[in-house]
Amino acid sequence: MFNEQTGTIEFPQPRNIVFDALIHTVARLPKFSISFADPLGGRVTVKSGMTLLSWGETIPMTLHDTPSGGTLVRIVSALNFGLVDWGKNRQNIEVIMNNLALNLRAQAPAAARFCTHCGQALTGPARFCPQCGQGVSA
Ligand SMILES: [Zn+2]
Repeated sequence: MFNEQTGTIEFPQPRNIVFDALIHTVARLPKFSISFADPLGGRVTVKSGMTLLSWGETIPMTLHDTPSGGTLVRIVSALNFGLVDWGKNRQNIEVIMNNLALNLRAQAPAAARFCTHCGQALTGPARFCPQCGQGVSA
């Protein structure tokens, strides 16, 4: 899962999917909010709320396309020195990343369906094949 050495975690889904899931995941977590989001540049900054024990922390992340069509999420140090204070942020990062992984798993598309007559890929709840017009079972 989360690689502490490089501050990265990889997901098999494409970047736009991971980006949306990250925004929705953070929105649902009571302790966190999005303070900056740039879908095109693949940058998101998550802010954790102030608690009795600490001031709010900022967790900037960047999202990168991987050669296999997946997404690499990199946690960027707020100090920009490449050294992240894991002791302080680790728990927050793990909460966000675990929820993001769960969210992505939950919305994984159902297995692709194909027409049994001509092999055309079927989208949605189609009852007839758009290619050959034969009825297809759900
Ligand atoms: Zn067909």
